[in-house]
Amino acid sequence: THFGFETVAEEQKEKKVAEVFSSVAQKYDIMNDLMSLGLHRVWKHFAIQVSGVREGDRVLDVAGGTADLSLAFSRKVGRKGQVWLTDINHAMLSRGRDRLVDNGFAMPVAQCNAEKLPFPDDWFDCVTVAFGLRNMTHKDVALAEMRRVLRPGGRLLVLEFSRVWKPLSPFYDLYSFKLLPWMGQKVANDADSYRYLAESIRMHPGQEELKSMMEQAGLSRVDYFNLSAGVVALHRGYKL
Ligand code: SAM
Repeated sequence: THFGFETVAEEQKEKKVAEVFSSVAQKYDIMNDLMSLGLHRVWKHFAIQVSGVREGDRVLDVAGGTADLSLAFSRKVGRKGQVWLTDINHAMLSRGRDRLVDNGFAMPVAQCNAEKLPFPDDWFDCVTVAFGLRNMTHKDVALAEMRRVLRPGGRLLVLEFSRVWKPLSPFYDLYSFKLLPWMGQKVANDADSYRYLAESIRMHPGQEELKSMMEQAGLSRVDYFNLSAGVVALHRGYKL
C-alpha cells in the first residue's frame, strides 16, 4: 500500500515462516507423524500415485523440507531420472539432504524461494509442493513460477491442508487450536510454532479457491481430490 503496511506484513510473514521451520526442523518428522496420526504418509503416498512419475522423469520438489516426496520420487525415476529437492530453509533442507544421502541417493539440492526458481523454462515433467504453498507470501507468483519450469504436458501437484467437511469442523477446530499447540509444547517444547501452523491452515484458500488460483496461474484441466474429509486436498493441473 501507499504506507507500506503490506510490505511490513509480508516481511513479518517471511520472518515468521523462517523462524518456525528453523525451530521445528529437528523434530519435524516425529511431529508430522504424531500430529497427523501417521496420515501424512497416506496423503503423500496418494500424491505419488497420482503424479504418474516414471523412470527417467525430471521431478522438482518445491518446499521439499525433509525430503519425504523427494525420496519416494528418487526411487521411481531411477538412474536416468532426476529429482531436485528445494526449500527456502537451510535447517529443513540439510535434514532432507542427509536423509537422501543416508538412503543412497545423490540427488541435487538447492536452497531457493519458490517465488524465484533457479531453473530454465519447460524443464520438469512434474513439479510438486506438499504442505508448502500456504507458507508462501505471494502464492500467485510461486504458482506461476512452478508452471514456468514445467515442460508442456507436465503437471503440477499441490498437496495442502484444505477445508474440512462442515459437520466435522468443530472437532477439527478443537484438535488444531487446543491439542496441536499442546502436543507441540510437550514434544518439541514449542507451542508457538504449532499455533502458527494451525492458524496458517485456517488462512489458506479452500478447494475451489485454490483451483481458481491455479487456473489464473495458467494451469489447465485443474482438478482436486479431497483426502480425509477435506482435511487435505490434492490439486493437479497441467501446463498445456
Ligand atoms: N514438503 C515437506 C513435507 O511435506 O513434509 C515439508 C513441508 S513443511 C510443512 C513446509 C516447508 O515449506 C518448510 O520446509 C519451509 O521452509 C518451506 N517454505 C516456506 N516458504 C517457502 C518458500 N517461499 N519457498 C520455498 N520453500 C518454502
